[in-house]
Amino acid sequence: MNNPKIREPASMDECVYHTIRTIGEGRVRLWVLREKCPQCGKALMAKPKDPKTNRFKTRAKEYICSECGHTEDIEKYAEKLDANIQYTCPYCKNNGELVTPFRRKRTKILDEDKQKEVYKEALIFKCGKCDKEIKVAKMK
Ligand SMILES: [Zn+2]
Ligand SMILES: [Zn+2]
Repeated sequence: MNNPKIREPASMDECVYHTIRTIGEGRVRLWVLREKCPQCGKALMAKPKDPKTNRFKTRAKEYICSECGHTEDIEKYAEKLDANIQYTCPYCKNNGELVTPFRRKRTKILDEDKQKEVYKEALIFKCGKCDKEIKVAKMK
């Protein structure tokens, strides 16, 4: 299989999304890196800055390109990007890593708090060794 290599972020600032989850006896670290503007390709998409303080508006729900002003909703923007994943498989303990499109779908997933299966949006990938599905649910 020809899998692109995962890319480590230089800082949390580069991540659109970053999460570490414990799944059963396994562990998943998943992150999505910011990319250049899809419109002009000149600058990295970033959160808008507050003109008064010149700081990024950390709670902004959109990204903006500093070159051309192109704006994208963060959630929708993230879905066009790739997720970098490092994991320890909860079933076979295999350590692996992969890059996969950051696309989530509705699936049955075990809610560890409630100890029952519920439907949630999750990113699903397969363990490279035992081929079982590992699901990373969206947190809200
Ligand atoms: Zn642009
Ligand atoms: Zn496995």
